[in-house]
Amino acid sequence: MRVVLAGAPGAGKGTQAKFIAKHYGIPQISTGDIFRANIAAQTELGKEAKRFMDAGDLVPDEVTIGIVRDRLAQDDARAGFLLDGFPRTVHQAVALNKTLSELGTPLDVVLELQIEDDEVVRRLSGRRTCRKCGHVWHVEFDPPAQEGVCDVCGSELFQRDDDLPETIRRRIEVYNEQTAPLVGFYTAAGLLRGITAQGPVDEITERAIETLKTAADD
Ligand code: AMP
Repeated sequence: MRVVLAGAPGAGKGTQAKFIAKHYGIPQISTGDIFRANIAAQTELGKEAKRFMDAGDLVPDEVTIGIVRDRLAQDDARAGFLLDGFPRTVHQAVALNKTLSELGTPLDVVLELQIEDDEVVRRLSGRRTCRKCGHVWHVEFDPPAQEGVCDVCGSELFQRDDDLPETIRRRIEVYNEQTAPLVGFYTAAGLLRGITAQGPVDEITERAIETLKTAADD
């Protein structure tokens, strides 16, 4: 299964990506996670990415495309992969097609998680992430037993800089301008399948897996 998980910020890509990747036994390749790991490790890449991320802007294509190309060439991606948060521009999508055709592993499906704009703001502004294990909580929809503390590992929760209100607005703008055109791009390629990403998490996972199964059989 070679799949791209698409959708606006806050649609739940990260959450669903984990379940889907586990279900198929494939690596989850998240460019956002790769950037955040580099920020935590204070690498040059991390320093460069942080400037763009904190502003709610996209990290430049030259940087992002190279990272994904290297990651897809690793052995564990031969049997399949789930891309989460990449591509985010048509230029990235074209580069991805090129890389995958060189590797002889074309995409099977692009699954779009669909969500309404005001729901995006509610979800992102309440999101809290564990510093240690990375588990994502939500102050309203999925609060931990004790405020600010992770139930999984007991560590401190924090709010991502890019989940602050001004940055959220900018991220939605960037999504509409630069990423939304991918829907047309992948529809034209016959790869796009959309599902509603509102409602209980496990129901969305079921819908996602059912849709992927049907798409893979087509
Ligand atoms: P995410 O965790 O997917 O919401 O990504 C967080 C931030 O990382 C985004 O707002 C961008 O600044 C940056 N980022 C992640 N993926 C990409 C990408 N494919 N292209 C450019 N920037 C990205």
